Amino acid sequence: MRKEYDELLSLFKEASIVEEIDMLLYWDRDVTMPKKGWKQRAEQVAFISQLAHEKKINPKIKELLVSIVEHPDYEKLSEQEKRNVYLIKRKYEKMVKVPPDFVGEFSKQGVIANKAWEEAREKSDFSIFQPELEKMVEFNKKFAHYLNPEIDPYDVLIDYSEPSMTQEKFEKLVNPLKEAVVTLIKECLASATQPDMSILKRKVPIDIQKKLNLDLLKVLDYDLERSRLDETVHPFTTGSYDDVRITTRYYKENFLSAFMSTMHEAGHGDYELHVGKLGSYQPVGQWCSDGVHEACSRFYENILGRSEAFWKYYFFKFKELTGEIFADVSLEDLILAVNKVEPSAIRTEADELTYDLHIIMRFEFERDLLNEKIKVKDLPELWNKKMKELLGYEVKNDAEGVLQDVHWSEGLMGYFPTYTLGNIFGAQILMQLQKEIPNWESEIEHGNLKKILDWFRENVHEKGNMKDSFELVQDITGKEVTSDYLIEYLKVKYSKLYNLS
Ligand code: ZN
Repeated sequence: MRKEYDELLSLFKEASIVEEIDMLLYWDRDVTMPKKGWKQRAEQVAFISQLAHEKKINPKIKELLVSIVEHPDYEKLSEQEKRNVYLIKRKYEKMVKVPPDFVGEFSKQGVIANKAWEEAREKSDFSIFQPELEKMVEFNKKFAHYLNPEIDPYDVLIDYSEPSMTQEKFEKLVNPLKEAVVTLIKECLASATQPDMSILKRKVPIDIQKKLNLDLLKVLDYDLERSRLDETVHPFTTGSYDDVRITTRYYKENFLSAFMSTMHEAGHGDYELHVGKLGSYQPVGQWCSDGVHEACSRFYENILGRSEAFWKYYFFKFKELTGEIFADVSLEDLILAVNKVEPSAIRTEADELTYDLHIIMRFEFERDLLNEKIKVKDLPELWNKKMKELLGYEVKNDAEGVLQDVHWSEGLMGYFPTYTLGNIFGAQILMQLQKEIPNWESEIEHGNLKKILDWFRENVHEKGNMKDSFELVQDITGKEVTSDYLIEYLKVKYSKLYNLS
């Protein structure tokens, strides 16, 4: 049986390698491809993603799975080997239901729709994107139907990003969170303590920002020999093991945007750099779920990056690298500005408190689109209405409204909930970190960030995919997953910052 097991793993490796090449094509599209190369790229991506899919549903995999699982020696496999077999089986049984030519067509449409989205966003004109998005919704419905025609299509898609996650489970977690956050936002906005937002709008030349972001990566003990940082319209992370790519975007009059994006993507990147501890090109040596990925990125960005402790440590270096620009700014003012609470249009620029409201509305739109309760053509109006209702924000145009996110153009539906799930996981993991390293904040303040990062790597990254996400978080923290820890974390943090009684 050893022979069959090794053969199964080598087929898995083959599929993973093709997938990596596919991801490199995406990276290249966004970082270096000439503008007019997109049609050719659509063909390449269709070809390679179809090939990856064929590798994943190779009939030999089924044969090997049967002979391994039914073998009298199956019980002699280690826990890790059994988990590998289980994960390959789970993926195979899902993917075998999806025809390869559909996968190719879906990927191709992703490149075409992405192109239309780019143009629509540039011109702030939803009508350019609308027909492509309509096709994308249909592709998603079909995909869900292939995977499981018996249940709600949106549940199928959520489960694809986050195994065993459902709408109901998500709603149960976010309803109390939504209520707590709405109240907290009101209290912060009514407080006499308010940040001086002009600090964030000061002009910081791009070359200075680039130096700042590279320095940040060093501070985060981020391995730049196995990774690199580039610029894109929409920051993202791709790759794994010894070749991880992260990107950011720079605005002259919003230095915090690049700084926080870099920190967020470094969180994703660091996960990929360490996830292979149990064995690269094995299912257990890959990321656990999208929610855990977001827990890593949002832990770096918010829990570390927006903490008082981090800025107490980094303030001096920050001033040194930015010269005269912030010479008159006090540490307290900078910390408050970094933690501004301000209902605003763009999700990726949103503060920690309003962020989850952006996710909740996307969750509701996706759910209703997939279930035909709303139509694509009505999205801009519905979007603006929802923004007003949830955040009290008046959307000025489609570019800052319904067209802001890249996800739908690439066919990603059911992914958005994983961001909030990441926040929930992250805060619960922080609770455990506080127990094991009670002085974690003073460690950061004294520049010993590595101690915290190493704890995170050991307890989260290196666990790979030995457990599904909810079980993993429960294992790390000894508690069932709940949004209580996130609510408590936000209450304590913002009450202190905004002097709430
Ligand atoms: Zn992310």
